Amino acid sequence: MYSSAIKAQKQVFANDELTITQLEDKMWVIETVDNTTMYIIEGDEKAMLIDTGTDCHNLQEVVKKITDKPLYVVITHIHVDHAGNIFDFEDIYFHQADEVLIDRLREPYKGRIHYVKDGDVFDLGNKEIEVKHMPGHTPGSIVLLDYQTGNCYSGDAFGSGQVWCQLWPFSSMHTYEKSCRTMHKLMNNGITKVYCGHYPHIKRAFDKSYIEDMSQLAAMIRKGTQPEPKPHPFIIPVIGAAKPMMSTYKTATIVYDPEHVKKGLKGEVSPGN
Ligand SMILES: [Zn+2]
Ligand SMILES: [Zn+2]
Repeated sequence: MYSSAIKAQKQVFANDELTITQLEDKMWVIETVDNTTMYIIEGDEKAMLIDTGTDCHNLQEVVKKITDKPLYVVITHIHVDHAGNIFDFEDIYFHQADEVLIDRLREPYKGRIHYVKDGDVFDLGNKEIEVKHMPGHTPGSIVLLDYQTGNCYSGDAFGSGQVWCQLWPFSSMHTYEKSCRTMHKLMNNGITKVYCGHYPHIKRAFDKSYIEDMSQLAAMIRKGTQPEPKPHPFIIPVIGAAKPMMSTYKTATIVYDPEHVKKGLKGEVSPGN
């Protein structure tokens, strides 16, 4: 067996829409030209595709260039830049709390939906991937944990430098802070690398210090004690808060809705732990 270092960072495929780079042994990142990200993890018997990007042609065929093992397609959360190509696949897995977002995709999904929940484990053959529910960015955001490598695949749960918590259907800052704390605990117990959902912006995995910064910033927003620089308006228009604000602490930035710091929408799902 070769070490992950030998095979690290080798681009193995490219077309007009995306590149595929091997980051570790049996782990690849797909980076699209619109800066979305997917990951492929391969076990001895099965493989997993994490997220599907916004709009790529023949994604299923592209993935087959890397692995022809039976594929679990797991979506970290139902946003168009992560679930945009679910239509290429007959079976998909995501957390039920994001069902409310599925109507916002470009067409109805006609395949089979399998809901995952906190603690579920996918067995890929000598490789187990565990689901952890991390609401905040969306109510059904999940991360996928590989204790064998210490890797966490986080989608947008903790952002890619900046996490968006200002989006409908709003979670409270308390909920997001709890997710940060849960993630922090995992990083004291076997998880060392967080591979985010927009890898092209970062080109590396986050370590524990990033999660610590996020955790502290979420607590400060909840208590209204943000440090300098003071929060300022966030101006990129997306569906969500009327007047979103953004706040930065060390390496972490959170965009949030001041109206939903204390209370998310009715039906908000708290993290299981
Ligand atoms: Zn998202
Ligand atoms: Zn995203």
